[in-house]
Amino acid sequence: MSEEKDEQAALEADKEHFVQTQEELDRQDEAAKEKEEPVDFASLLVPPHTKKSRKVTEEDIPRVMKDAHIMYNLCHTQVGYIPGCFAVHHSQIDDKDPLNFFVTMDKEVVLNPEIVRHTKFPVVKTEGCLSFSMNPPKKVERFHKIEAECNYLTRDGKISELITLSLSGKNAEVWQHETDHGNGILIYSI
Ligand SMILES: [Zn+2]
Repeated sequence: MSEEKDEQAALEADKEHFVQTQEELDRQDEAAKEKEEPVDFASLLVPPHTKKSRKVTEEDIPRVMKDAHIMYNLCHTQVGYIPGCFAVHHSQIDDKDPLNFFVTMDKEVVLNPEIVRHTKFPVVKTEGCLSFSMNPPKKVERFHKIEAECNYLTRDGKISELITLSLSGKNAEVWQHETDHGNGILIYSI
């Protein structure tokens, strides 16, 4: 009888020990997670290149969704001279097989953008570029109003119908900068 009691007590003690150990492990796990280094998104940028991006198709969507996460975070990363930015083109994180899409700081994923019309005379704007984070901003010519065609990534991860947008001012400027990236054109090469 007393042996049985002892065994019972030992089991209880073990159980208690196990629970404590488990709690401790969970606590260590949590602490490790908190200590985990935040992802250095800026280190995922590739050096500037002039490779033309290819059209995004349905098969590319898993890649688009994965890379859009990095690009969106880059929009909110302060790198060198660029205090945040408005959009990031896929060619800025992929120099092997860049896809023609960009992500805006509002988390819009714009696929296959193309500028189809613009006002007659350009105006001079000052722009920076994440690909040249150490360079000072540069004066470039941009059209104040443009008409662009594109698809976008729908909420359920599909490619939308082709849409036409009329853009002006800052939006038009950003779209010209990003479609240039898609075509392998960089602000320091124009
Ligand atoms: Zn750029």
